[in-house]
Parts: sequence; structure tokens; C-alpha cells
Amino acid sequence: MKIAIASGKGGTGKTTIATNLACSLARMGTTAQYLDCDVEEPNGHIFMKPDIEKTEDVTIGVPAVDTEKCDGCGKCGQLCQYSAIICLKGTVMTFEQLCHSCGGCMAVCPQDAIREIPRKIGVAEFGRSDGVYFGHGKLDIGVIQTPALIRHVKQNAMANAVVVVDAPPGTSCPVIEAVKGSDFVLLVTEPTPFGLNDLKLAVEMVRELGLPFAVGINRCDIGDEEVASYCRQQNIEIILEIPDNRSIAKAYSEGIKIIDALPGYEEKFVQLYRDINRRAGIK
Ligand code: SF4
Ligand code: SF4
Repeated sequence: MKIAIASGKGGTGKTTIATNLACSLARMGTTAQYLDCDVEEPNGHIFMKPDIEKTEDVTIGVPAVDTEKCDGCGKCGQLCQYSAIICLKGTVMTFEQLCHSCGGCMAVCPQDAIREIPRKIGVAEFGRSDGVYFGHGKLDIGVIQTPALIRHVKQNAMANAVVVVDAPPGTSCPVIEAVKGSDFVLLVTEPTPFGLNDLKLAVEMVRELGLPFAVGINRCDIGDEEVASYCRQQNIEIILEIPDNRSIAKAYSEGIKIIDALPGYEEKFVQLYRDINRRAGIK
């Protein structure tokens, strides 16, 4: 069972729900894994406080040109869609920070002049916290190959666990990489005009991907009724509501999980899992 917690915009409480869900599952005796795939700005570790047992450098393959073999034909540059390799007046230049590691330039080179060398894009760390298997990625500064690092983190998903994937915010390529292959997506939002706008985009995305989903509303008692009304119109279920509570905000600001700060919330997250379990497979 792989559950992605996603949101059309940042700051909606996605990580709060993902970390509390994973920990609640572990406390009820279920093998649970939390994977923070918001690799540009991971913050799940602030709440999970994991003991890191394994750190890996994550690399992608980028081209290196053998100038002895290259005859300046320019086919590599014509092929690359990212301008990561160009041939000017018979001289090839590479811009590895733009390379998406597709291997196309190597395949097309008639002189076999291009080989792949590794380029570090970030690190992945794995460990344990509060009975939960923990993993996250941290993208190096200035690196744009976010999906590659997310893929690496997700490759460590355990087959025998309930895996909670904390997706990056938005609806772009990194989010799609994070939610792809999930059994269920919980879209987290807030009942505000911005929350509604970004929820609509997120709904379009998961529908396009054909993934079963439902909505969770954080700070459900602020704002207006528009999110609830949109969900009703679209026949989308709201399966979690968390009120705007000063104690929750205080716990969040101190890096404390809701289930450790407020009684009753552990059962609420276990119930969320049961609800997701029932709905998984229903589009
Ligand atoms: S591997 Fe792909 S993205 Fe990278 S330089 Fe070659 S063609 Fe461009
Ligand atoms: S395709 Fe190969 S031979 Fe042609 S310019 Fe590129 S590196 Fe040189």
C-alpha cells in the first residue's frame, strides 16, 4: 500500500498529515515507512527526528566528450532537447547542470565519442524514527534534476510496509514523479480561495494520472465553504478535517507531531488509514 500525500500548494499541512499518519500506523503495529520526496525542501525529519543509518550520494549520468574521437558532426547537439550539449563550429560543449541524463547524445554519436560520467545531484538518507522506517532526499543547491532524486528515494520503498510518500507541493514534474505508482493520493488543502484554486489543479493532475484520491482539509474552520462546495459538485470525498487549533500550531512550531501533543489524534489518523484502505482502487 503506497499512499501519497500531496497538495497543489505549499504550507497546507501536507507534511504534518504524512508524518502523523506514518507514526500512528507504526504505533498500531503496522509496518510503516515515511518517504519525504519534497527533496528541494524536506522538513519531515524535523518532526520525525530519525536516527539516520544510511547516507547515499545520488548521481545521474552526464556526457563527457572524447575530443580525440569527435569529428564535430553536431548530431549530439541537434538531438538534445535541453541544450545540455551543443556543437559550435565543430567544438562540442557540455552543460551538465542542464542534462536530464536521457542518454540520447551517446546513442546518436557516430564516433562513439561520448561516455557517461556520474554527477552528484544530492543525497538520500534512510533510518528509523518512532517505529517508522524513514527516508528522504536532499537536492544539492542549484541542481534541477529533482525527479531523478525522487525516483531514487522511491526505489527504497518497502514492499511489505504501508509507505507514506510526502510529495512536493504543486503539480509539476517532481509531484508527478512522487505520486506516480501510488495506490491512493490524499490531496491536502485549506478552505481559502488560494487553496481552492490549487486544489482544482491537483485534482486535474491525479485524474489525468488515473489515481484514486480524496481530499483532506487542514484548518477546516477558517476561510469559506467553497472548497467543500467544489468537492460536492465534483463528487470528491473529504476524508479528513483538521481544525485550526492553537495547540496544533504550537506543536508544529516546536517540531512536535500532533499525535504527541493532542490526545485523540492518533485514532483520527488510524481512521484516516482505514478510510483510505477502503477507497483504494476506487477512482
Ligand atoms: S544525456 Fe540527454 S539530456 Fe543529457 S546532454 Fe545528452 S541528450 Fe542532452
Ligand atoms: S555526435 Fe559525437 S562526433 Fe558528433 S559532434 Fe557530438 S560528440 Fe562529436
